[in-house]
Amino acid sequence: MDNRLNTKHIVACHLCDALYDKPHLKQGQTAKCNRCGSTLVERKVDSINRSFYWSIAGIILLAPGILLPIIGVTLAKQYHHASLLDCVVVLIERGFFMIATLLFLFAIAVPVVRLFGAFYISFSFKYNRLKPSMLNFFRAYHHLDNWAMLNVFMLGIVVSMYKLLDDTELTINLGLFSFTLFLITSTMASTTLDQDYIWDKLEREFIDDDS
Ligand SMILES: [Zn+2]
Repeated sequence: MDNRLNTKHIVACHLCDALYDKPHLKQGQTAKCNRCGSTLVERKVDSINRSFYWSIAGIILLAPGILLPIIGVTLAKQYHHASLLDCVVVLIERGFFMIATLLFLFAIAVPVVRLFGAFYISFSFKYNRLKPSMLNFFRAYHHLDNWAMLNVFMLGIVVSMYKLLDDTELTINLGLFSFTLFLITSTMASTTLDQDYIWDKLEREFIDDDS
């Protein structure tokens, strides 16, 4: 017996594993689990377009967010400021390799990869350029979600490390503003993506052919 045929019309609650017939929802509707009340399936409104434009906004904010000074310190009556990349370099120079690596990974690399991932996915759906490789790509993209909130945490560490290392006046600069906006847009680009819709569509395009 082909198990795949049976699972196509069934959806499992991701919290309590209760099984349901897959509901047919319109945009904006959600289906809740009867047993635990968590959201079973959610059809987000205009998901692809929203994600597309959020990711474009994020790509525009990327350069100022990383290159403009995020914090400034007054040290021995001299004013210094540092961008996010400067912070990574300074941390390496002072021997904080671990923090520098984590900062680079979670504040720069992961958000950038997620943002371009969301852009690529929404672009492919918006202009109907779907390829079978999208299945694997979306699966990989989905894993990055687990690391999403770490960038906010890392930014907190940077600011407090600077505060600890140079116990002086600290000012917040334009770069921090851009970087915060960049984090918001990159998070929005990925939260507006309707995962259920994307899986459904990919399944129909590339998996259902043989049944
Ligand atoms: Zn449940």
